[in-house]
Amino acid sequence: MLVLVSDPFGPDLPERLSRFGTVTDDKSRLAEAQVVLIRSKTQCRKDYIDSAPKLELIIRGGVGMDNIDIPYAESKGIRCLNTADASSIAVAELVFALMMALPNQLTRADASMREGKWIKKELKRTELFGKTLGILGLGRIGLTLAARARAFHMQVLGWHPDVHYTEWAEICPTMQEVLRRSDYVSLHVPLVDDTRGLINRESLKLMKAGAYLINTARGQIVVEEDVVHALENGTLGGYATDVWSSDPPESTPLLTAPNTILTPHIGASTQENMGRIGDIVERLLEQHVAGRRA
Ligand code: NAD
Repeated sequence: MLVLVSDPFGPDLPERLSRFGTVTDDKSRLAEAQVVLIRSKTQCRKDYIDSAPKLELIIRGGVGMDNIDIPYAESKGIRCLNTADASSIAVAELVFALMMALPNQLTRADASMREGKWIKKELKRTELFGKTLGILGLGRIGLTLAARARAFHMQVLGWHPDVHYTEWAEICPTMQEVLRRSDYVSLHVPLVDDTRGLINRESLKLMKAGAYLINTARGQIVVEEDVVHALENGTLGGYATDVWSSDPPESTPLLTAPNTILTPHIGASTQENMGRIGDIVERLLEQHVAGRRA
């Protein structure tokens, strides 16, 4: 069996998977591969799948599978799996880092010190204690975040099409209510037709003046131009994003917008998560090989 590792995984993964056959990162061997391991960079669209006639299995190390044409892959008999549970802690902790750094102006404080400035009086801080966090998408990451926010004594609101009760959050009947009542809004919905452009000029208008928006879900869930407009006119207090319309973005108006923190899609990139992803990939391959023998 040939396993093609098409995106970066943990350094020990090739050795761990060698018992299943040949493991390579040589992308020119796609046509020979029975298994392809991807993260967010490789795009498994129709052309890619057509170039891999022996392919049986695509494993996405991570959660979002919007870089795979799943219906087309499945029509060719190719299974598409992910390592869904692995990344929740890593992403929820990044949200916390952003939620603390953004309103507390920590990146500005750091930059000012390096420029030899002492702007102590300008750097007013704020606490999470007692504030309201609204979570859109109460799945694995959303709930992991909610539990941590409760430990910080935040009030947690959520909105979800099917979840009507959770011990971690008050479920609001509409997304609009979450937006109206929250001091911080964190996005955790997948990128699907319903959620593309979910945060736009109209939804931003519903948010409290000066509220903060954190996006570790997908870039296309917000309309970037509308977010920039809200930052510039001060209705949005700040925007932190880890996710982009493409990795890296070709161009984005966010680079020059005020009160932002921008990170290069590092939500899942903890050392611990890479280990967890490796464990799950190994288990999925074991099951795949057992299924082939049966
Ligand atoms: P999940 O499937 O456990 O949770 C998503 C939740 O959103 C589900 O409960 C789903 O029912 C709900 N949902 C779906 N459509 C909705 C809609 N229209 N409105 C409201 N809720 C809706 O997924 P997860 O593990 O929590 O991951 C969420 C997303 O985070 C992924 O899809 C991925 O895009 C993103 N992600 C980003 C990183 C990163 O590095 N920044 C890492 C992992 C995941």
